[in-house]
Amino acid sequence: MNEGLLILISAPSGAGKTSLVNEIVDRDNQLIKSVSHTTRARRSGEKEKKDYFFTTDREFSEMISNNEFIEHAKVFGNFYGTSKKYVETNLDLGLDVILEIDWQGAQQIQSVRPSAISIFIAPPNVQELENRLRKRAKDSEATISNRLSQATSDMSKAKNYDYIVINESFEIATKNLLTVVGAERLKTRRQLEQNEKLAFLLSPK
Ligand code: 5GP
Repeated sequence: MNEGLLILISAPSGAGKTSLVNEIVDRDNQLIKSVSHTTRARRSGEKEKKDYFFTTDREFSEMISNNEFIEHAKVFGNFYGTSKKYVETNLDLGLDVILEIDWQGAQQIQSVRPSAISIFIAPPNVQELENRLRKRAKDSEATISNRLSQATSDMSKAKNYDYIVINESFEIATKNLLTVVGAERLKTRRQLEQNEKLAFLLSPK
């Protein structure tokens, strides 16, 4: 069985990452999204197990002690982590797993799994980012301004990613993300290593 791709997607909050990831997962049935654990409070409309596993600080610390996370980080004062078992099981099944994580988590994974593909989703400009954060209106004013200043610093991390996708038009950004995934699946090294049917290309008569 071919191992799936591990795809890391980061963005400043308000760049539209979650909607884009949901869209590409809907359009491509080989893609799945990992559901993270978090200690942050649930926002209205969010569902347990679909958006996050909402956990207490104590449960989260136990998971760290039991080495259950492939990465974890503190973001905006709350803890977030990705289940190692979920990721490894699905990669082994040949599925391509997307992690929607912040730059700290992406850095941790890149150091243990250098084959992971990293994509940074950026807003078209800072004003648009602010408009989107305000429109979302699920957070308090203090949270919004905190996230806005955090976003500026997050954007300086874009240069460490393999790809940058600008989310100006949702449709174009969706297509660009699917293009990256499609191109990664077609990489020569990956196909020759993982696709037994191509053995004839390695030892032509
Ligand atoms: P939010 O609370 O708005 O859903 O997410 C806040 C930030 O935490 C976002 O940048 C999101 O990508 C990041 N995040 C969500 N899940 C994880 C995770 O499992 N690990 C890490 N490192 N960051 C995460």
